[in-house]
Amino acid sequence: MKYQLTNLSLDLGEEARPFEPMLAALLGGSPGDYRCPRLERRSLDARHKGNIRFLVNISFESARVFEGISLPPGTKLEPGPASVSFEVAPVTRKPRVVVVGTGPAGTFCALRLLDYGIQPILLERGPDMSERVRQVNALWNQGILDPEANSQFGEGGAGTFSDGKLTTRTGHPAIRFVLETFVRFGADPRILYLAKPHVGTDVIRKCSVLIRKEAQRRGAEYRFKTKLVDFREAGAIRAAVTDRGEEIPCDALVLAPGHSARDTFGMLQNHGVAMRQKAFAMGVRIEHPQDLIDRAQYGPSFGHPSLAPADYKLVCNLSNSRAAYSFCMCPGGEVIQCASEAGGLVVNGMSNAKRDSGFSNSGLVAKVNTSDFASEDLLAGMHLQRKWEQACFRAAGECYGAPAMSVRDFLDARATGLLPRTSFRPFAVPADLTTCLPEFVLAQLREALPEFENKIRGFGSREAILLAIESRTSSPIQLLRGDDGQSISHPGLYPCGEGAGFAGGITSAAVDGIRVAEWIARGAGAPTFEPFEKRIKSGDVATDY
Ligand SMILES: Cc1cc2nc3c(=O)[nH]c(=O)nc-3n(C[C@H](O)[C@H](O)[C@H](O)COP(=O)(O)OP(=O)(O)OC[C@H]3O[C@@H](n4cnc5c(N)ncnc54)[C@H](O)[C@@H]3O)c2cc1C
Repeated sequence: MKYQLTNLSLDLGEEARPFEPMLAALLGGSPGDYRCPRLERRSLDARHKGNIRFLVNISFESARVFEGISLPPGTKLEPGPASVSFEVAPVTRKPRVVVVGTGPAGTFCALRLLDYGIQPILLERGPDMSERVRQVNALWNQGILDPEANSQFGEGGAGTFSDGKLTTRTGHPAIRFVLETFVRFGADPRILYLAKPHVGTDVIRKCSVLIRKEAQRRGAEYRFKTKLVDFREAGAIRAAVTDRGEEIPCDALVLAPGHSARDTFGMLQNHGVAMRQKAFAMGVRIEHPQDLIDRAQYGPSFGHPSLAPADYKLVCNLSNSRAAYSFCMCPGGEVIQCASEAGGLVVNGMSNAKRDSGFSNSGLVAKVNTSDFASEDLLAGMHLQRKWEQACFRAAGECYGAPAMSVRDFLDARATGLLPRTSFRPFAVPADLTTCLPEFVLAQLREALPEFENKIRGFGSREAILLAIESRTSSPIQLLRGDDGQSISHPGLYPCGEGAGFAGGITSAAVDGIRVAEWIARGAGAPTFEPFEKRIKSGDVATDY
C-alpha cells in the first residue's frame, strides 16, 4: 500500500541521506520494508534562525500495518498521493483556433489544444529564440532597443527572460501538468517537489524552444514576426488580421499578448472589447550583495552546503491603509533592462539556474489603485506606466541605462551620485529617483524601507542600490470573460494569461492557457475534464511569484 509521511522536520544535510533507514527508525521494521520512497515536497523552515531545517513529505510503499505509531509533533502518516493522468481523447469536430502570443499562456493553451487534436496557429509579434536573444543582448550590452524583439516580445514571451520561478499561489491542479511539462523538456526534476520551484532563464529558454518544436511536430503552426493588428467579426469572431496583411479565418481567437502589448490593448479598446481598469504595482528594483542577504536570513547556518542562496518576502502595511512589498525576489540574479517602447525604461530581475551572480534583487513596489489614475479612459493605468517610464528615460540621460540611487541617499533625500555595485547592464546612471516615480509611490517606499531594515539587517545599508522603474508588474487592465472563457462582448474571443488580467506569473499564465484550451475543447464537444475544473479566484490573479 502507498503512504505519505507529511511535515517531517529534518536537520540540514539529512535531506540528502537515503530515506529507507530513516523510515525504519521512525515507523519500525527494517529499511527493506520501505519501497520506492519519494520526496513529494520540500520546504525550508527558517522560522528559527538558530535552527534552520527542512520540512518534507515523503511517499513510500510498504506491506506493514502501522498502528499505535508515535510520530514527532506535526508529522502525520496518511494514504499516499494518487497519481493523476492528464490524458484526454481528441475531439471530432475541430474548430480553427488562432492563439496570439507564445508566452506561457499561449504556449500551454496550444499544448493542451493539441491534446484534444486541435492544431492551432500561433501568432508571435517577436522573432524566434535565437534572433530574440541577439536583440536582447544588443540592448543589455550596447543600449540598442528593438521595440519588437526584447524581454517582453518574442518566442516564449516575458517568461523567456524571466527569473524562472515557477511558484504560484493559485493552487490549481493544472500546476502539476505545467511542472511535468517543463521537466519533460529539460528542467530539473526537483521542481516537482520543491516548495519554491525555480528553473532559471537559461533553462527556460531551452525548454521554450523544445516545447515549440514538439508542438510543431504535433501540428501547431508558429508564425513569428507576425502581429495581430485587428480582427473581423460578424456576430462572432471570424478572422485574425495580421500586420502582414493576412486575414486568417478562425472560430476561436485566443488573446494571450502579455501585459506590455499596449498597441494591442488600444486595438481592443477601439473594437469596444469589454474590459475594466485594474490595480497594479509600481516601484523600483533593490539590489544587495547575496552574502548580505544570506547572512541575515540564515544566521549561524550561513554557508551550510544544503542551503541555496537565500530569498525573502517583505510586506509593510502602511499608515494610510496601503502596503509596500517585495516581489519577484531573485537570489543570485541580475537586474535587467526590460524596456519595450522607444523612449521608456523598465527594470526587472532574472537569474540563471545556478543563481550564482553574487547579487540578490527584488522588486520593491507599492500598490497603484485605479483611484490613483482616476479617469474615464480604460487604458489610464497603461498611460501612467508609460509617463513614468519616459521620466526614467530622461533621468538616465535619454539612454537605455537605468536611473539609480543608493538606498541611503534615497532615505536621506540627497543625491550624492555615489552608487553601490550593481549587476545591471549596460550601466546604472546616478540620478535623483524623486523625478522617476509618482510621489505617492515614493512616500510608501520611504516609509517601508526602514521597516524592511528591521526585518533584514543590512537591507538599507550602503551596499543597497535602487534602480528605476519597476512598472510592468502586472496588467493595468482586465478583459472581461464569461464562465465559458469567452469575452462577454465578443463571442469567439478568449482573453487569456497575464495581459488579459487572469494571471500573475509564468505558472498561473500557463494554467490559464490550459483552462482556455479546456473551454475551447468543451465547445467542440469534449467532456469536462474534472481535474482542471477548479476556478481561479479573482483575488489570485495579481502578481503571484
Ligand atoms: C524579467 C522578468 C522576470 C520575471 N520573472 C518571473 C518569475 O520568476 N516567475 C514568474 O512566475 N513570472 C516571472 N515573470 C512574469 C512572467 O514572465 C509573466 O507573468 C508571464 O510570462 C506572462 O505570460 P503570458 O503568456 O500571459 O504573457 P507573455 O509571457 O508576456 O507573452 C505574451 C506574448 O505575446 C506576444 N504578443 C503581444 N502582442 C501581440 C500581438 N498583437 N500579436 C502577436 N503576438 C503578440 C508577445 O510578443 C509575447 O511573446 C517575469 C517577467 C519578467 C519580464
